[in-house]
Amino acid sequence: MGQFSVVSNRTLKNKKGEDAGRLKVLVRTGTTVAETSYKCPECFHEEQLNLEWQRPLVVTCSKCANKIKMEKLKDEIKKEKKKEKAETEKKLMAFKAK
Ligand SMILES: [Zn+2]
Repeated sequence: MGQFSVVSNRTLKNKKGEDAGRLKVLVRTGTTVAETSYKCPECFHEEQLNLEWQRPLVVTCSKCANKIKMEKLKDEIKKEKKKEKAETEKKLMAFKAK
């Protein structure tokens, strides 16, 4: 297992649909602190802050109050679960081979 339970780095679209901002979220394994850094797609304000980790994670821009939502998390969780499952199966196969 890695050092982080959540690693997310995504591009944010502004209201015009342009890639204008960024949202990075890291959660260390065993903690519920989301180390968040963002660039607001509406006003380009950049900030780093620690938030309580929750789903969905919503960050409010401290400059223009734009709500930045961390989306598509479900897909990421699914991917993670799949990876976990594959690893478990691999271990099981290795066990059976003995
Ligand atoms: Zn903003």
